[in-house]
Amino acid sequence: MFETLSDRLGGVFDRLTKQGALSEDDVRTALREVRVALLEADVSLPVARDFIKAVERKATGQSVTRSVTPGQQVVKIVHDELIAVLTGEGDPGALRIDNAPAPILMVGLQGSGKTTTTAKLAKRLKERDRKKVLMASLDVNRPAAMEQLQILGQQIGVDTLPIVKGEDPVAIARRAKTQASLGGYDVYLLDTAGRLHIDADLIAQAAQVRDAVNPRETLLVVDGLTGQDAVNVATEFDDKIGVSGVVLTRMDGDGRGGAALSMRAITGKPIRFVGLGEKMDALETFEPDRVAGRILGMGDIVALVEKAQQTLEAEQAERMMKRFQKGQFNMNDLKMQLEQMMKMGGLQGMMQMMPGAGKMAKQMDEAGLDDKILRQQVALINSMTKMERANPQLLQASRKKRIAAGAGMDVADLNKLLKMQRQMSDMMKKMGKMGKGGMLKQAMK
Ligand code: GDP
Repeated sequence: MFETLSDRLGGVFDRLTKQGALSEDDVRTALREVRVALLEADVSLPVARDFIKAVERKATGQSVTRSVTPGQQVVKIVHDELIAVLTGEGDPGALRIDNAPAPILMVGLQGSGKTTTTAKLAKRLKERDRKKVLMASLDVNRPAAMEQLQILGQQIGVDTLPIVKGEDPVAIARRAKTQASLGGYDVYLLDTAGRLHIDADLIAQAAQVRDAVNPRETLLVVDGLTGQDAVNVATEFDDKIGVSGVVLTRMDGDGRGGAALSMRAITGKPIRFVGLGEKMDALETFEPDRVAGRILGMGDIVALVEKAQQTLEAEQAERMMKRFQKGQFNMNDLKMQLEQMMKMGGLQGMMQMMPGAGKMAKQMDEAGLDDKILRQQVALINSMTKMERANPQLLQASRKKRIAAGAGMDVADLNKLLKMQRQMSDMMKKMGKMGKGGMLKQAMK
């Protein structure tokens, strides 16, 4: 799926990733090509423009992780932004089907794959969610469509409402509701009539059915191959009837992922499922990261950048350990430790993670020993110069006064901080000697 977009972007990024370093101009040129690729993939102009703008904003000023090229970094940023745009709220696969029998209304144009999707969804609800499902076709103008649903029902072992000739759609919907209640069904799916185009009749009928059963979900089925048309259809259906989610079909074809991107950006409606073929199990929950990966077709680069970031962090940690072992523990290190502690929820948060320390956390709280102290300590370090942070032992009385004042605290507070840094430095030195000294090496001799 999405070969077109993926190939296009692939070409762009091939050129990018072969360069060692990128200038700002290069980034802009590259993003211009990404924009063209998006447009050719049927992403609408405003969506593509906004998307590129967001990526540019995020890319500018972002430091490039060592051991990947700036081009690779851009891929990662584009990838993350795609996910951000594609992601809706909540789990797309979780349908609201509590309060049995829960009605689900299926709407869409003729030929979009609505009947097929109704049956696929019924099969999924039956097999994955262990629900008792009933299906009913409301397409009174096309007897063939009603029979089609019946045949699919037999295939997947899901009941369909018996066809009664001459009944209108609202009457069928009501009958489905009664039958679902009496028959102990958990869910009933209503496959509404489709037309080739949206017209007043179609909308009026769907609205009447909606009012008759009050659906828990109204799922719009659209052909993912129709790009911008699919988005227009969705906008209109949502305006006139209100939809709770979208199913994009034919995403197995020579698809242009643009529809998914525009759909999210323009309608704001969550994409819930994608259809990936004609078979009854060719329906998948919409997964933004997977789709973004497929749009780019460069999952390996994304993984590479993630790996490089991890490696970098590991390298930093190792360098720090080496310095600590030599007793080099300055104010920058202390600041990092303090900030790490704040990230972990402060002193209390850390205490709570230690078994049996909950009571101590409470006592600390009562004694006023909270995050405020951590923040004050960081503020003190922040008001030192770079030189002073690296060599805090050089601090003179006059500078101490000014630093304390700069952080809004007393010299006594600063002295406490300096003492803490010295103690930690000593401790690190001892631990370093032990490591080298060789408790381990001794034992191995
Ligand atoms: P309806 O008129 O909207 O009810 O459309 P149908 O459910 O009858 O589907 C029309 C055609 O599209 C059928 O031949 C389906 O098998 C096919 N179809 C539906 N969904 C998909 C899909 O996700 N992928 C592919 N390749 N074909 C699909």
